[in-house]
Amino acid sequence: MCLMNNIKSKILAQLERFRVVHPGPFWASLGVAGISMFGMVAAFGTSPSTVEISIAQQTVVEQLAPAPLLTLSQNDEVFVREDHVQRGDSVASLLARLDVQDDEAFRFLRSNPTTQIIFRQLRPGKQITAHVTRDGSLQTLIYPLNAPERALFVERRDGQLYASERVLPLETEVQIKSGEIRYSLFGATDDAGIPDGIATQMVEIFGGDIDFHRGLQSGDRFSVVYETLNHQGKLIRSGRILAAEFTNAGKTYQAVWFDGEGNGRTGSYYTPEGKSLRKAFLRSPLEFSRISSSFTSARFHPVKLDWRAHKGIDYAAPTGTKVKSTADGTVEFVGTQNGFGRVIFLRHQGRYTTVYAHLSRFATGLRKGQRVAQGELIGYVGSTGWATGPHLHYEFRVNNVQQNPLSVALPTAVPLNKQQLARFQGTAATHLAQLKLVAPRNLALLD
Ligand SMILES: [Zn+2]
Repeated sequence: MCLMNNIKSKILAQLERFRVVHPGPFWASLGVAGISMFGMVAAFGTSPSTVEISIAQQTVVEQLAPAPLLTLSQNDEVFVREDHVQRGDSVASLLARLDVQDDEAFRFLRSNPTTQIIFRQLRPGKQITAHVTRDGSLQTLIYPLNAPERALFVERRDGQLYASERVLPLETEVQIKSGEIRYSLFGATDDAGIPDGIATQMVEIFGGDIDFHRGLQSGDRFSVVYETLNHQGKLIRSGRILAAEFTNAGKTYQAVWFDGEGNGRTGSYYTPEGKSLRKAFLRSPLEFSRISSSFTSARFHPVKLDWRAHKGIDYAAPTGTKVKSTADGTVEFVGTQNGFGRVIFLRHQGRYTTVYAHLSRFATGLRKGQRVAQGELIGYVGSTGWATGPHLHYEFRVNNVQQNPLSVALPTAVPLNKQQLARFQGTAATHLAQLKLVAPRNLALLD
């Protein structure tokens, strides 16, 4: 225990150096990529997976956090839900995606004079943050208004809901947390008190190495160092992951954020050796969300899971789940084919083709010859063609021959130059040391 306290104070000392007031544009995006892959869908099917390890982590975290957030961390019944307004959203659909199941809160938003502004300013791309209990009761709702630095702030105090418009100067804090997967990634991040926005960033960062839909295993572990943007100690939104470690099926991947240009606007994730984590192809063509990550269709029987017999990989997912292009490319075919149903063929770098079949519909306006970026929305999961239930049939072809994408060697990204590498190593060393301090295996040893 003495050793544990010693480590805690070391972490504290390290964190002091990172604590900075964030004066920049209030709601400026701190996301990883420009592409909106952060969109979250309503929550269900998460499983409680409290382990001794996560209790130890939480103790560490509570030592680091200021008072109001400490209350939040201690009460494991409150979760931070984050999402973006999408085209066609209503306040009701937005609340559903945030996992708010609270008629009283919805009636309050509809009838309170102060909250009417959310209905008038429901603009696509805006980020909304909610603190929600496990049974869906709304505790706090923060919605950015069109005026800079202003937000609509709804909160429950002593069982009553209150709304106000506020100026919210944000303060950046660094958090270090870790967890172990028992049933699902969101189950583990919920237990560790990690906001959804950080969970989805992890999926994006390691999405070139790990198939988060089909490849996660019980016992997989992660540690993450990330920023939160707080107002008076309350988490307003999650910021950027600074470093992360993910152990999948016994293999450990590490990532450190680095701004190679040094201009504060661009940046990317690298291995501790300075190799870019960006891959030419994503492992999974599905958007990661609470629903798609825990979905198993009763009607879907993947009789030919072996890709050699089947020539593809099947992803069970609810109808309407977003399908993303796994790489930069050009639309070669979009339409209906026997067996495949509604299907898209994308061509990449001349010799690679990816196929997305059984779709319910295509992204609006998608047409032959169009260029698409990695991670771009191209269609939605369905069960058209020869499909026994909603799923995505995904093929990866080299010179038009189906290959197992997991076994194909792919071109790697441009490495950092010498000066960048020197600068990178300074940043990386600090964050990697922080990760090591909260790595589950270390805490387990200390117990
Ligand atoms: Zn299939």
